[in-house]
Amino acid sequence: MSQHQDLIDRDRKVTFHASTHLRDFAHGDAPGRVISGGQGINIVDKDGREFIDGFAGLYCVNIGYGRKEIAEAIYNQAMEISYYHTYVGHSNEPQIALSERILKIAGMGMSKVYYGMSGSDANETQLKIVRYYNNVLGRPQKKKVISRMRGYHGSGIASGSLTGLKAFHDHFDLPIETIRHTEAPHYYLRAAEQHDMTEREFSAFCAQKLEAMILEEGPDTVAAFIGEPVLGTGGIVPPPEGYWEQIQAVLNKYDVLLIADEVVCGFGRTGADFGSHFYGIKPDLITIAKGLTSAYQPLSGVIVGDKVWSVLEQGTGEYGPIGHGWTYSGHALGCAAAIANLDIIEREGLVANAAETGAYFQQQLKATFGDHPLLGDVRGVGLMAALEFSPDAVGRAHFDPALKVGPRVAAAALEENLIARAMPQGDILGFAPPLTINRSEVDEMLGRAKRAVDKVTDELVRAGDLKTGEKEAAFTV
Ligand code: PLP
Repeated sequence: MSQHQDLIDRDRKVTFHASTHLRDFAHGDAPGRVISGGQGINIVDKDGREFIDGFAGLYCVNIGYGRKEIAEAIYNQAMEISYYHTYVGHSNEPQIALSERILKIAGMGMSKVYYGMSGSDANETQLKIVRYYNNVLGRPQKKKVISRMRGYHGSGIASGSLTGLKAFHDHFDLPIETIRHTEAPHYYLRAAEQHDMTEREFSAFCAQKLEAMILEEGPDTVAAFIGEPVLGTGGIVPPPEGYWEQIQAVLNKYDVLLIADEVVCGFGRTGADFGSHFYGIKPDLITIAKGLTSAYQPLSGVIVGDKVWSVLEQGTGEYGPIGHGWTYSGHALGCAAAIANLDIIEREGLVANAAETGAYFQQQLKATFGDHPLLGDVRGVGLMAALEFSPDAVGRAHFDPALKVGPRVAAAALEENLIARAMPQGDILGFAPPLTINRSEVDEMLGRAKRAVDKVTDELVRAGDLKTGEKEAAFTV
């Protein structure tokens, strides 16, 4: 037995894996893999097999693998002090320097940064801030938060409720009361059902749906709206033209706070520092994680804008110290890793690379797959993109979910030593490589992806399965 197989067998006995078919994995009916190294855009497993990581882990290893500079920054900080809590005004130098740096990059009237460990916990913090804010303002009934179908905001009880994907709600009794989900800005899928609107018309339609929901719930009960600048896990869907402008007009009209969940888009993925910069979003609160440290350490943050901050200050003047804190808030090793990560992003011009190589990537993706018989939609921005498969692109039809077209293409890609992600809902293959990727690596990645898509297409044609199936139960509520 190989050492790798031995490790996998031990793992099956003892580990409860995230997002995994628990029984199949425990019983040896689903594959395992132990990752032991990585360099640039590639990772290596314990057998020495190398893959292009076309998804940068979970769209987070933005500076690529194997950066010794980050390891050194963590080591140097650990040799000083790894941890002391940040309650009651305690701090550490990396935390201070990092907050200054984040606020400078963000701009947009942001004034403070609160730290956590994951995107999920940061969104829990967001929900508490929103409640506190309205209590201080004497509006205790203004508590509901509107998210979007297909949005992804985490896996906790509250953050998982914000998430608008069925698999994250079913069997967990979610969403909780006070969370609502409005229209997904998925032009390709939804506009066809709405009689072929233009993108602008579809954006207006989404804004109208949001306004109708606010009016139905009662504007005095709706506290905040949360959205990813580009829908991520829900299918990598850039917003239709004019979307954010029209959504923000509705939010302003009803005094509803805007939380931009920048966990994926933040720190360069779209080709701008923040997705909010790219799309002209003016958030009151921002959630960050992933690209903040490129996942070399777990670290997340909530960036609080002036308007909300002044109310929080006022609140503690009345109520005393704020009743919110994590043991690991502002962890010195996480902050040190984040600073080294931001240094690399700046020095190597990775945001500009996401824009430039990203434009090449989007163009090549369209050239490779635009007319492919398995494709319904080819979309993306910067260094994030998706292929949405369909047996009939014009009719925007769906495959029978039992055919598992998306997962089959991802499995075929793996055979080609390419990791691309079968997104959790619909037949969608996602790409979000490290922001270091260059043109020849893009060509190699797309060559492997093309062979995988062709292989599954051949299989479907041979089995007579290249036909329309039942419409997916795409939406959670
Ligand atoms: N928000 C967005 C937009 C995400 O994509 C994710 C994770 O993918 C999260 C929040 C949750 O982050 P975490 O998995 O670190 O809890």
